[in-house]
Amino acid sequence: MKKTTATDPAVTRNWRPATQAVRAGTHRSEHGETSEALYLTSGFTYDSAEEVAARFAGEASGMQYSRFRNPTVEMLQHRIAAMEGAEACLVQASGMAAMTSSLLAMLSAGDHVVAGRAAFGSCRWILDNVLNRFGITHTAIDGTDNAAWEAAIRPETKAFFFETPANPTMDLVDLEFVCGLARSKGITTVVDNAFATPVLQRPMDFGADVVAYSATKLMDGQGRVMAGAVCASRQWIEEVLSPFQRNTGPIAAPFNAWVVLKGLETLPLRAPAQSASALTVARHLEEKGLRVLHPGLPSHPQHELCQRQMSAAGPIFAFFAPGGQSQAMALCNALELIDISNNIGDSKSLMCHPASTTHYNMGAEGRAEAGIEDGMLRLNVGLEDVEDLIDDLDRALGTVGI
Ligand SMILES: *Cc1c(COP(=O)(O)O)cnc(C)c1O
Repeated sequence: MKKTTATDPAVTRNWRPATQAVRAGTHRSEHGETSEALYLTSGFTYDSAEEVAARFAGEASGMQYSRFRNPTVEMLQHRIAAMEGAEACLVQASGMAAMTSSLLAMLSAGDHVVAGRAAFGSCRWILDNVLNRFGITHTAIDGTDNAAWEAAIRPETKAFFFETPANPTMDLVDLEFVCGLARSKGITTVVDNAFATPVLQRPMDFGADVVAYSATKLMDGQGRVMAGAVCASRQWIEEVLSPFQRNTGPIAAPFNAWVVLKGLETLPLRAPAQSASALTVARHLEEKGLRVLHPGLPSHPQHELCQRQMSAAGPIFAFFAPGGQSQAMALCNALELIDISNNIGDSKSLMCHPASTTHYNMGAEGRAEAGIEDGMLRLNVGLEDVEDLIDDLDRALGTVGI
């Protein structure tokens, strides 16, 4: 392999994660640019009519149209697949495009899905409001309960769909058990790994079939663009997802793919650093007597599972204002450094009140079922100095009488 390109999976698969994050997928043009090139083009030209005919017939490789393939997008797909340890990856316009495409591409009327009920609001919405209109039913269960997965299986169950850690309760799913159960029954597991990224957790190492991402979060990591990604076997990507995606069009913009490519270069540095700061802040809040949900703390009921399947617990955790919603909102308002924002994975620390924002749509009953209390706050810990974050929180907590 020439140093100008790093597109041979047989080579990039064997690199260590930090090298993959910086170099896997890089395909240099004849100019030999150091940074990945941004191909802002919708179409491509050909030297002959025969050449384009061969590409459309699938007899020659090469670009045809950016809804199908784009060189910048392909560099990102290769890089994410290498980091995930997956055979193949396709990127999409957003995390929700990735989740929706994965499910719609493989399910048909009459199929059944078992889903973890602690989930991102829009993931629940797809199950409740899109799939059910096409005769695809689901059972939402407590994903932390291994026996509940087994009990919910029906003859027509085609997929398990869950996130771990889950947003915002930080519930974990036992990847080895649940993926193994699915394998033994011929059920496809779709894992939303947005909170962890391949740097902190690789679900395929535990038997997951499909790993889907919001690349908007930690992968970009600097709050700039929307993007999504789906990793799976080459066969699943080529036979199931690719035809669906090419014809329905939830594809990523080349510019957004380029931004995520550059974001991935620093992911192996950012994810552990933000995870370490988040654990420090969580421990501090717990020591002050607050109730905290962080799987890296021994107080979390699934702490041992976290240690088994994650290298660190990530930048996000939840805690509770004892005075409920008004005190939680007052605490947000009293922060001077940490921003109020519903985004996560950013290098800036961000605080969110899930019950009135990200999980408002679920309704009070849905929130109660998912464990989202009115006093709950979700904190994304960024790359600022952790002592400044603790100072800001301590001052704000004092202001609201905690
Ligand atoms: C943000 C998020 C999504 C949706 O991703 P978008 O890029 O916002 O479309 C899905 N799942 C989880 C766990 C998320 O945090």
